[in-house]
Amino acid sequence: MALSRRTVVTGIAGGSVLSAAGRAQAGTADDAVQNILSTAGAWRQTAAERDMLYRQAFNIARDRIDAVLRGRGQQHRGSRPLAVISDVDDTVLSSDTYWARLVSAGKQAFDDDMWDAWVRENGPTATPGAVEFTHYAQSKGVEVFYVSSRDQGPDTQELGIANLRHVGLAFADDAHVNMLRESSNKEPAQQAVAAGHDVIAYLGDNLNDFRRRYYVTSVAQRKALATEDAEHFGRDFILFPNNTDGHWIRAVFGESEPADTPAYRARMLQAAEGLVN
Ligand SMILES: [Mg+2]
Repeated sequence: MALSRRTVVTGIAGGSVLSAAGRAQAGTADDAVQNILSTAGAWRQTAAERDMLYRQAFNIARDRIDAVLRGRGQQHRGSRPLAVISDVDDTVLSSDTYWARLVSAGKQAFDDDMWDAWVRENGPTATPGAVEFTHYAQSKGVEVFYVSSRDQGPDTQELGIANLRHVGLAFADDAHVNMLRESSNKEPAQQAVAAGHDVIAYLGDNLNDFRRRYYVTSVAQRKALATEDAEHFGRDFILFPNNTDGHWIRAVFGESEPADTPAYRARMLQAAEGLVN
């Protein structure tokens, strides 16, 4: 099939190249046709349902604030300030454009260098409803604290705050942002917030954003532990969708960011067939 190069040129870093879709159309790269990230990426980019899962989660968070404030008003008590603790990536900041860039570059697994470059470019956009939610919380006197695991070197904290500010999220300052470079264990940082606030909700796309006890490497065990806490979800644990990364990947592969190897691709296919638990 004749292919106009002009129609498939993309603007990704490194100059003009054929997009992955262009390579697939041209039949020039089997990997582009078979990229195991393609369906997940397409869902991120196109599904209105996915956007509404974000809106739904932020609506639940708003309702949570309203209910707690109503309760406090009725009881005429409650003097500790209220707080929401939120994860950052794929909770209030979307990594859709990163995954699109990755697929365009023919990558099939998380790429640290591309991630770091994208963070430094202020690549993240706000997730649907995030900006409105943080300003709503602020208008009600509820502080939002951000606890994230990221590592772009010594300026990780500044870069994170810049990303949050870039999209207009409230509370994007040192007092409310904690970028953890050494560990993905968020509990000490969460407990530090809880020492001075009533934490009324946790927001995250990864079970680890709610409790560290979910940090286990078995698919079945993660499901069992989360199910034990099912009553929390949609109440004080407010969950957002992420179909490309997180500790569910770690449960499948033993690490959160596995390298793209034949074994990785085979394992992903096994997982899709229901053969990994
Ligand atoms: Mg996240």
